[in-house]
Amino acid sequence: LFVPDDLEPGLEFDAGQQQSHYLAHVLRLGEGAEVLLFNGRDGEWSAAIAAKSKKAVRLKVLDLQRPQPPLPDLVYCFAPLKQGRLDYLVQKAVEMGAGVLQPVITQHTQVAKPGIERLRANVVEAAEQCGILAVPEVREAEKLERLLANWDKERRLIFCDEDASTTNPLPALQAVSEKKLALLVGPEGGFSEDERKMLRALPFVTAIPLGPRILRADTAAVAALAAIQATIGD
Ligand code: SAH
Repeated sequence: LFVPDDLEPGLEFDAGQQQSHYLAHVLRLGEGAEVLLFNGRDGEWSAAIAAKSKKAVRLKVLDLQRPQPPLPDLVYCFAPLKQGRLDYLVQKAVEMGAGVLQPVITQHTQVAKPGIERLRANVVEAAEQCGILAVPEVREAEKLERLLANWDKERRLIFCDEDASTTNPLPALQAVSEKKLALLVGPEGGFSEDERKMLRALPFVTAIPLGPRILRADTAAVAALAAIQATIGD
């Protein structure tokens, strides 16, 4: 369970309504049962159910089980999509190893800036689900040009280019030597010609194809992250 507070042995607190329901009625845990907590800062803590009441489950923190692992050093840059698909895309990115989520506003981005609180809630849910102890960082949306102008040159930016001339991403990915990585996926409307030209001209950018078909942006994200995991990996 994700608990966004400082934890220490002996601390007792009431779980939130949703989490209490999950513990008492979904997992049907009784007093004394042990659960694992993480706060995205110092790692994984064991805790026991101290008491159950109508309104909440009371937890008692036992001790630190596992220190907080580092976040994967992959920055996932994405043009925001319509909310439902955005929720999906953010969860997949976290499951597939993104450590930082960077919304990017491009020329053809059709949606308003995404609600950062909702993105963060999706990230926490995905982190809980895939059992990572860290909570990936969600940054404020940035315009593509500004993001590239301030880019950390030691970080390789892998750009999914639907107009690439080849179809297999692996050769380009295998040529990447940097450990610090970022991935950029465009909006439903794709990148503009100017954006594509600008990206291809940058020394820290590697353009990759993702097969011969046009993928939806959220499909492209998973396909690219899987290809990266298969070659460079974390
Ligand atoms: N331009 C297309 C759709 C863009 S798909 C159109 O207008 O229909 C959204 C994003 O997914 C693209 O910007 C690109 O980053 C990625 N993408 C989709 N298919 C891809 C492919 N075959 N190769 C590389 N990237 C792809």
